[in-house]
Amino acid sequence: MGLFDRIKQAFTGEKQEETQTPIEQTETTEKYEKGLEKTRKTFSSRMNELFANFRTVDEDFFEELEEVLIESDVGFEVTMEITEALRQEVKLKNPKGKKDVQQVIIEKMVDIYEESEAGDRSIALKEDDLTIILFVGVNGVGKTTTIAKMAHQYITEGKKVFLAAGDTFRAGAIEQLEVWGERVGAPVVSGKAGGDPASVVFDAVKRAKEENADILFVDTAGRLQNKVNLMKELEKMKRVISKEVPDGPHEVLLVLDATTGQNALIQARQFKETTNVTGIVLTKLDGTAKGGIVLAIRKELGIPVKYVGLGESMDDLQEFEPNDFVYGLFSELIKDSL
Ligand code: GDP
Ligand code: GDP
Ligand code: MG
Repeated sequence: MGLFDRIKQAFTGEKQEETQTPIEQTETTEKYEKGLEKTRKTFSSRMNELFANFRTVDEDFFEELEEVLIESDVGFEVTMEITEALRQEVKLKNPKGKKDVQQVIIEKMVDIYEESEAGDRSIALKEDDLTIILFVGVNGVGKTTTIAKMAHQYITEGKKVFLAAGDTFRAGAIEQLEVWGERVGAPVVSGKAGGDPASVVFDAVKRAKEENADILFVDTAGRLQNKVNLMKELEKMKRVISKEVPDGPHEVLLVLDATTGQNALIQARQFKETTNVTGIVLTKLDGTAKGGIVLAIRKELGIPVKYVGLGESMDDLQEFEPNDFVYGLFSELIKDSL
């Protein structure tokens, strides 16, 4: 049984077969529901507008639907896939009523979501050895904040965490990381503002090794307007890391701001071209993101979303749970379509 039906059952309370995992209201589900409130409202209200004047599934309807999906940041590929599925469904089952059509659309979105599982979502920590995680992404997407949140999670689990202030470029960036480091209880290795980030990284790796740290998070600058230099800088940092720790960095997490929509996709493509990105952190999903961006990322990039940011505080980072995410995003629509 698919995810769509399981969510539906969560609302209707229909009896579950024993082999299925029902969607349960857990603490995580609640965090997603609350964090995705705005995103969900924007998404639902667009869909509701579309259906307000619904008469029949004709070419005009398909055109409007395509528009709504594109505007919701679902991306071209996914939009075409959904409308194609609806065309097939219309031929097969001839859904007439508004609710039937709504269900087909949502069901297809959930399906696409489930189908395009993009690799392993977990972060593999080295056992009894240093794990180095590099954060990349353009200015303001939430790299430093995410590092702090993730450091907080691992420290709570009892891990020894070090931070490297590799953003020596942006004014105040070193201080910002130092403030976070103090708050979450992680030593910060930093150098001079304007200095060579690779040199900071070198010092940080050395110290993390000396002091038997479990994890080193490396913050970086994000000057995409100067793409070639940025990529050279990242390469140099990676070189310095692998000189000391041959299999490092163990993860390169690309941070993307969900509220920037298609721009986030463009950034992801650019980073993917030059850096071996192992996972995505999608931030600011608590803002007025259009939500569809997650479908687009999943379908078009093939890089797993590993974490999502649902707010500005230390506790507002969640490991990405597709079921909870889909539930958080579509719950109102599914409720309405029943
Ligand atoms: P960086 O330039 O990539 O390091 O970005 P920062 O970590 O400095 O974050 C930029 C701004 O985004 C800050 O004001 C953060 O508080 C905010 N921010 C980061 N993540 C989130 C999130 O998940 N939700 C919200 N609402 N704000 C966030
Ligand atoms: P380069 O600056 O183009 O020579 O790039 P490298 O990859 O050789 O080094 C980058 C930075 O990391 C250097 O500027 C140093 O600050 C630091 N670094 C790299 N290797 C060493 C090393 O063996 N010892 C020390 N002290 N620093 C190093
Ligand atoms: Mg920063």
